[in-house]
Amino acid sequence: MLSAGLGRRVLSLFVTTPTPARAAPVHRRRARTQRPTDRSLQARFRQLNRELFEGRLPALPVRLEAGLGSCLGKAYYVIERSGRLRPTRISLKQENPWTERFLRKVLVHEMVHAWAYQTHGETGHGRQFWKKMASVGYPRGHSWRDAGQHERDVW
Ligand SMILES: [Zn+2]
Repeated sequence: MLSAGLGRRVLSLFVTTPTPARAAPVHRRRARTQRPTDRSLQARFRQLNRELFEGRLPALPVRLEAGLGSCLGKAYYVIERSGRLRPTRISLKQENPWTERFLRKVLVHEMVHAWAYQTHGETGHGRQFWKKMASVGYPRGHSWRDAGQHERDVW
């Protein structure tokens, strides 16, 4: 049964030769994925910090991390003796096939957490978090009309 199915699939591969005009949209629909390097993540962080936070976030280490489970990213903090929250680092899920725009969105999401810790002492997805997210272009419920399989997020 298995080999018969395989045979059919191989056959159809030869029968349907896509013309370039037909192949192009198929290619465009599949966004390219990447595994960013820690160095490139650091550069992105600096760029987004300037672009969206007026450079006010501290230089946090950003790394890919294995074993985040269902989390796409995490922003860590410590509680200082004064009671203030100080962001310490950001991790993004190593195993996720990242597209360019989704990587940006999740990194911005974690950076907004760091911003909310630092500026408002707010953790989680609170009022300040969503206000800032909306102001940087990702209002609550944001998703792309043509979001790919690995470009959906829930919180
Ligand atoms: Zn979050």
